[in-house]
Amino acid sequence: MVDFLYIHIPFCIRKCIYCDFLSEPYDATRAERYIQALCRELQTKKDTATKLEAVYIGGGTPSLLSGENFDQLQKSMKTSFEFSPSVEITVEANPGAINRQTIDTMLSLGVNRLSIGIQSFNDNELKTLGRIHSSSDALWTVESVKAAGLINFSVDLLYGIPGQTVESWRQTISRAVALSPCHISTYELTPEKGTGLFPLIKSGGLVLPDEDIILEMYDHAIDHLGLSSFIHYETSNFALPGFESRHNLNYWNRGEYYGVGAGAHSFVGGVRSENTSDIDLYIKNLENGISPEASSIRLTDEDRVREFIFLGLRKSEGLSIVESERNGIDLAGNCGELIDEGLMEINRGYIRITRKGMALSNMLIMKLVEKLESVGPGRLSAS
Ligand code: SF4
Repeated sequence: MVDFLYIHIPFCIRKCIYCDFLSEPYDATRAERYIQALCRELQTKKDTATKLEAVYIGGGTPSLLSGENFDQLQKSMKTSFEFSPSVEITVEANPGAINRQTIDTMLSLGVNRLSIGIQSFNDNELKTLGRIHSSSDALWTVESVKAAGLINFSVDLLYGIPGQTVESWRQTISRAVALSPCHISTYELTPEKGTGLFPLIKSGGLVLPDEDIILEMYDHAIDHLGLSSFIHYETSNFALPGFESRHNLNYWNRGEYYGVGAGAHSFVGGVRSENTSDIDLYIKNLENGISPEASSIRLTDEDRVREFIFLGLRKSEGLSIVESERNGIDLAGNCGELIDEGLMEINRGYIRITRKGMALSNMLIMKLVEKLESVGPGRLSAS
């Protein structure tokens, strides 16, 4: 049963310099056509067995949509799926691209969680990132969300911004905590190829903070958020108890989900598929009754196990040793060196990355997968 739904809204006011998400400048007429296409795609997923546990409307900047757009989407979801009584419906919102009326409309339609892209409370850093908002816009957004009666909101923050200091990051974290969110995501800024930031970093026009400064920032987030009652439940994510993102946990647990919209991914029945990221083609295909799916791949046993390790070790609880063995992986037997180095540990039947290893988690996971693959056939095959 597929109980999770992702909807992609690929519109923003303008492109931020570091962004490699699928998005283009917002245009109301185009957004209207896109929403109609989305509703058509939702109808194709109509599933009587599904009782949605979580819906995540991401982008892009979904908070740019009109009240009518949200209304259309909600009606379409309702005719295609049943909702669990405790369904979590999240919408991504950006300061400077949301107003009080939109907040009220979303809440009246059942949205019960907002993920707010604040990124920083330092106006110079926001300018460097090419964000459209200021720190006071961010404060206004959070105060408006609270005034509308929503307490379940998350704040996205970025560290490793050119010009950012440990002190300004400390202030950003403190100001975020002072707003009383239930969830905070802290992502390291990485200059991806194809973004405006990439050539600027290459040419030295902008300089990223040193690696040890970045590690200090990450360490500070873990310390400060831990002292503020947040549970560090995934490499980049912190939540008050009970407020972990259901959509994201399902992804890290390799749960199934439908993804609708341009560039959206789905994972159903052991098959990962992806819609076309060409927004025009996406709209045109759905207007002509053609599937927008661009590619799909049935995972092999090895793919499944690799994903199990890659995604599972991102979670702070780590991987169940019993489940690993059920998947034919001798995880504990292959982690001896990493355990001796204090980078991994065994805790209550789970093997996980330690606080010391956390900042190196991507490298550790790669190293572990390579080691398991080199051990030979059978070590990476699911039973
Ligand atoms: S608001 Fe978010 S999705 Fe939109 S351009 Fe900026 S980073 Fe990308």
